[in-house]
Amino acid sequence: MTESIDCAVIGAGAIGLAIARALALRGHEVIVLEETDTIGSDISSRNSEVIHAGIYYPAGSLKARLCVAGREMLYTYCAERGVEHKRCGKLIVASDDGQIPKLEDLRQKAKANGVDNLEWLDAAEINNMEPAVRAVAALHSPSSGIMDSHRLMLAYQGDTEDCGGVIAFKAPVWGGRMEGDAMVIQVHGDEPMELACNIVINSAGLGAQALASSFDFVPPETIPPRYLAKGTYFVLSGRSPFRRLVYPVPEPGGLGVHVTLDLGGQTRFGPDVEWVEEINYDVDPGRADKFYKAIRSYWPDLPDDALQPGYAGVRPKVSAPGEPAADFIIQGSEVHGVKGLVNLYGMESPGLTASLAIAEEVAKRLS
Ligand SMILES: Cc1cc2nc3c(=O)[nH]c(=O)nc-3n(C[C@H](O)[C@H](O)[C@H](O)COP(=O)(O)OP(=O)(O)OC[C@H]3O[C@@H](n4cnc5c(N)ncnc54)[C@H](O)[C@@H]3O)c2cc1C
Repeated sequence: MTESIDCAVIGAGAIGLAIARALALRGHEVIVLEETDTIGSDISSRNSEVIHAGIYYPAGSLKARLCVAGREMLYTYCAERGVEHKRCGKLIVASDDGQIPKLEDLRQKAKANGVDNLEWLDAAEINNMEPAVRAVAALHSPSSGIMDSHRLMLAYQGDTEDCGGVIAFKAPVWGGRMEGDAMVIQVHGDEPMELACNIVINSAGLGAQALASSFDFVPPETIPPRYLAKGTYFVLSGRSPFRRLVYPVPEPGGLGVHVTLDLGGQTRFGPDVEWVEEINYDVDPGRADKFYKAIRSYWPDLPDDALQPGYAGVRPKVSAPGEPAADFIIQGSEVHGVKGLVNLYGMESPGLTASLAIAEEVAKRLS
């Protein structure tokens, strides 16, 4: 049986839910189709939960623009909707003089992105702010923070439902064709059906390329390759010596093994970068050796045996190992020629921070 709906959002992660919310608030009839039995079970629950300031990304990129705009939208939204968060600030540290040019670079990049409140700290100032940290220089970012990403997604879900939207679980989407002007997508799972839609949003995270390939209306040459960069976390046992987030200078593929604090007061370290062929979330305790070495470059007093295996996430990359980091890819009809279809690829960090701004961008492109 084929039913009709104005708008189908595929994937109930932070980005899919933010888009569903934005479209429902604009009066669209929205259904979110999610293949698992819960919201945010994939990338959106396997990350650092950091609210990024917008420091690292090339000027003019979607990542830069949507992170800077999304960050302030997010702080306001969290405050209004009672989503727990904290503007705790962050230090990016240079462990030796050789890393100072990298900090300089970051300061310039940040400025070009409109992040003009970074403070340059010397060793004594760092020691004052974070006595456990040893570094020769640091950038202090007062706009960085942490949030409860699950509460955030629940709030997006609540807003969507308040506007009449529906979240359908155990509803994997696979396959689609055009019938006249409508995209007819196939929903499998507990209640298989076909849905004729005016608008389809592919926000399937790690599954975005496979989903797009299953639609016979998406030109294959518009689908970017997918690469997987796993990031593992270890958890600190005992009290945290940190009050802020502490990051080393970035490494290829990621931001370096950093200190993340969660709102419960636990300290996590990660994520590292491991290019993998298959998605798996196993944590290899053997990776701890590399973590001790990386962390001791800025926290020399990290005790032996203080790290416990934590969890892992997988970044949905569209650039191969060794290539420069790619931007978010948000494709509308100007690229694939299908009116009403938006495909999102490579929605890695800072996707949580930018989620509200990404949703605005998608709504704008549809209108
Ligand atoms: C290690 C790591 C650390 C990160 N740290 C941060 C950070 O500190 N701050 C920040 O801002 N961002 C961070 N990010 C990025 C952020 O987590 C992501 O950008 C964001 O969570 C992506 O959300 P999403 O909705 O696109 O994907 P997901 O949360 O993965 O949601 C996609 C959903 O689609 C569903 N799905 C897939 N295929 C189908 C299908 N065919 N049919 C139906 N449903 C389907 C999946 O089950 C899933 O629920 C990090 C990412 C990683 C990997």
